[in-house]
Amino acid sequence: MIPSVLPTYNRAPLTFVKGEGSWLIEADGRRFLDLGAGIAVNALGHAHPALVAALTEQAQTLWHVSNLYQIPQQQALADRLVAATFADTVFFTNSGTEACELAVKMARKYWHDKGQPQRTDIVTFEGAFHGRSSAGIAAAGSEKMTGGFGPLLPGFVHLPWGDHEALQAAITDTVGAILIEPVQGEGGIRPLPDQCLKGLRDLCDEHGILLILDEVQCGMGRTGKLFAHEWSGITPDIMMVAKGIGGGFPLGAVLATETAASGMVAGTHGSTYGGNPLACAVGCAVMDIVADAGFLDRVGRKAGQLRQSLEGLVAAHPKVFEAVRGSGLMLGLKCKAANTDVLQAAYDVDLIVVPAADNVIRLLPPLTISEEEITEALSRLDRAASAIKAA
Ligand SMILES: *Cc1c(COP(=O)(O)O)cnc(C)c1O
Repeated sequence: MIPSVLPTYNRAPLTFVKGEGSWLIEADGRRFLDLGAGIAVNALGHAHPALVAALTEQAQTLWHVSNLYQIPQQQALADRLVAATFADTVFFTNSGTEACELAVKMARKYWHDKGQPQRTDIVTFEGAFHGRSSAGIAAAGSEKMTGGFGPLLPGFVHLPWGDHEALQAAITDTVGAILIEPVQGEGGIRPLPDQCLKGLRDLCDEHGILLILDEVQCGMGRTGKLFAHEWSGITPDIMMVAKGIGGGFPLGAVLATETAASGMVAGTHGSTYGGNPLACAVGCAVMDIVADAGFLDRVGRKAGQLRQSLEGLVAAHPKVFEAVRGSGLMLGLKCKAANTDVLQAAYDVDLIVVPAADNVIRLLPPLTISEEEITEALSRLDRAASAIKAA
């Protein structure tokens, strides 16, 4: 008999009943150190007092009004995002997938209104993840995501990761945009070198096409900058944001330049819940903390500590791990043992990590994790790796 919850997830037999900062408490009382943060969602850890206050205060005032009316919390969050980034304008969604939908629509509408409606193609890359909607899976293109769900939304050109010749050859007069994650998340924590991101920006400028960055996982302070592309010094035309921006409350956004967004006039797009007062009150509280230079500096310092100790871990367990990769507090352990065995061994020492493609284990701790907690996490990872070697 089919379970009452549609069985589309491989769930671990763990039931968390409470969260405190970097810790998750299981129903049986065990305290897990959380290096997953709900897949980079709980950017400020669990039950952060500022987020609890923002949410409860808004909950006592007004939960929801339609986008038929003015929403001051939404205006405030948009103003903050515009002030802190390349963007001139913001549309709020409830998720990363919905941000992908709008990014695709916005790029196509831009070319349509510019009198080049044939420019519908969007170039994407192997290992990409842009969500599970029809556009999202078509954008990613992998058999794992698209199998059985055809016919797929047309207009995506899939390229291998890091193949410059294929990229040059793919830029034809039907291409309207390039879509890429500055650091691939689901694909196995693969950072795009700064040089390559600059190269993509140059290529887009040369051909007058749009650069869309998916910063759903790598954005919102994760790499030690507010957004990952800031490391390379370039800016995109359109950017997808979600996960960390709501700190656990469902919230996403599309940020864009005035030019890229020029086709999206009244009536061209909408969302019932997108940008509702509860979500935006929390989003503002997240921005207040994460968009602060001192906070981002601390993320960078802790990332250095974590990375350095992970290099030591890899050196100490060469049969289990191969390498550390990633950026900031978005790190991956490329495994030699099966990453599923590493995941289980971590659970056995009360440590939460997240698997990714390419036999990688992801470490995406809350950005608020302390230096002591990082030390504790390493000691648990060391115990987990030793248990695998012994097995
Ligand atoms: C998680 C993720 C998405 C999809 O976001 P949802 O909120 O699950 O819809 C899209 N892109 C990237 C890079 C992601 O990590």
